Amino acid sequence: MAYAYDPENIFAKILRGEIPSTKVTETEHSFAFRDITPQAPDHVLVIPKGPYVCFDHFALEASDAEIIDFNRTVGEICKELGVQPGEGGNGYRLIANSGEAAVQEVPHMHVHILAGRPLGRMLN
Ligand code: 5GP
Repeated sequence: MAYAYDPENIFAKILRGEIPSTKVTETEHSFAFRDITPQAPDHVLVIPKGPYVCFDHFALEASDAEIIDFNRTVGEICKELGVQPGEGGNGYRLIANSGEAAVQEVPHMHVHILAGRPLGRMLN
């Protein structure tokens, strides 16, 4: 089954500048902004600029350049936030809700970066 991307989703509107957002960073292929309902002192959403619905859509169909850019952007943001455990930071959590079972609210692939408080154990 082909992935069906809805160009009217909220993050597509943010990318087009139709809805304001608090930008964290922008690269050739990726865009990052603050979550409107932060669940931690640092709660950043990183999205690819391309029309990908969920994580597997992005991982399977995006170009190598987009995937590398996305991963580097996530890493750079963690560095900017000063949360890299390997560099003395306190750590962070990445979440990519994908599809109905994970209660994905916005159908444009995104990764949450959560940091700035103890995040507890989360595997359910
Ligand atoms: P999901 O459940 O899809 O993984 O998470 C979607 C996230 O997008 C939620 O954490 C929600 O707070 C955030 N969000 C929804 N609408 C907006 C918006 O208009 N602006 C921003 N900055 N975040 C949004």
